[in-house]
Amino acid sequence: MARIAQNRQSVVILKSLQQLHTFGLPAHCTDFVRIQSVHSAHTFIAQHLEQPFYLLGQGSNTAFVADYQGTVAEVALKGIDVQENDSHYIIKAAAGESWHELVVYCLKHTMYGFENLALIPGTVGAAPIQNIGAYGVEVERFIQSVQYIDLKTNQVHSIAAKDCEFGYRDSIFKHALWQKAMIVGVTFLLPKAWQPVVTYGELAALHAPSAQDIFNKVVEVRQAKLPDPNVLGNAGSFFKNPIISCETLAALHQQFPSMPFYPLDAEAVKIPAAWLIDQLGFKGQFEGGIRCHPKQALVLTNAEQGTGEQLLSLARRIKNAVAEQFSIDLEHEVQLIGANGKVLL
Ligand SMILES: Cc1cc2nc3c(=O)[nH]c(=O)nc-3n(C[C@H](O)[C@H](O)[C@H](O)COP(=O)(O)OP(=O)(O)OC[C@H]3O[C@@H](n4cnc5c(N)ncnc54)[C@H](O)[C@@H]3O)c2cc1C
Repeated sequence: MARIAQNRQSVVILKSLQQLHTFGLPAHCTDFVRIQSVHSAHTFIAQHLEQPFYLLGQGSNTAFVADYQGTVAEVALKGIDVQENDSHYIIKAAAGESWHELVVYCLKHTMYGFENLALIPGTVGAAPIQNIGAYGVEVERFIQSVQYIDLKTNQVHSIAAKDCEFGYRDSIFKHALWQKAMIVGVTFLLPKAWQPVVTYGELAALHAPSAQDIFNKVVEVRQAKLPDPNVLGNAGSFFKNPIISCETLAALHQQFPSMPFYPLDAEAVKIPAAWLIDQLGFKGQFEGGIRCHPKQALVLTNAEQGTGEQLLSLARRIKNAVAEQFSIDLEHEVQLIGANGKVLL
């Protein structure tokens, strides 16, 4: 729905963002553009060099917490190209392709590897940005390179995976290249010698599974565990699982002996943020229309037509309570976008 705002010079039609992000918060932007070709991407960038804009995929990792004072540009480039060599399938997918549909496409054409990442919402272009991961696999293991347009020079570049600084839900696109690059495509390498990854959770019970078996299990488990954003607004895990040193863990275990952890290396462990939030009794709590999911403490939901303010308020309460009780700093995974861009908690 459009809203009309008036200033002295003109009447501006504001575009609603509610249907354009999975949280479904009531926010607007000044202008909205859907970019469907590389040519129109270049034209858009040339016209917006000095103006604020926010690049959007399917909005499943974005919460618009206020009206955005600028243009929202949805990157909707399409196309999948497959080549092969002796050892690998080389898949080039345009940024606006749906990630899950790419997973299904590859499975159907007997190119395996993506199955653990089934049903992750969003676009191919956003996948490298937070290095999407699930069930023991992160997308970085299949990325050969990422193609992007430099937003300053309007030139296309290709960055090799080794230079993408991939980490846990992290990459160079969240740091040195934040708001400096429009990703237009990603090149993946899927090894022909497929190895199943069944080390994680419910997958460990599968015996000699095919890629299709893993896909089916992942879809089944995700559908049972996670709220469907088409039914209940959310953006998946709201906070990242914090990483702390083994030394800090040892000190915390004195006070909280049951605190779970996953070893990362000899020095660091990952703590499930859901456990921390659950310990503090947030599950099911409301802040206005925003609710901490009653079964998944890590998922904040738009249960009853909540607002961006209410989301920020609940997220800050959780973050502060975790810091006070456990001296652990929770970092949000979802991009919170306010009037002038990124909002911090
Ligand atoms: C129910 C649910 C479950 C989820 N489960 C998982 C999970 O298991 N694992 C996981 O890792 N994530 C998960 N997520 C998070 C989300 O699916 C991923 O982060 C996904 O990659 C976001 O894609 P998107 O296109 O919706 O990104 P958006 O939200 O549209 O954008 C995310 C960020 O990328 C930027 N961006 C998007 N496209 C481009 C582009 N072409 N060029 C430059 N910048 C761009 C945006 O500016 C923004 O900063 C889940 C989300 C939901 C709602």
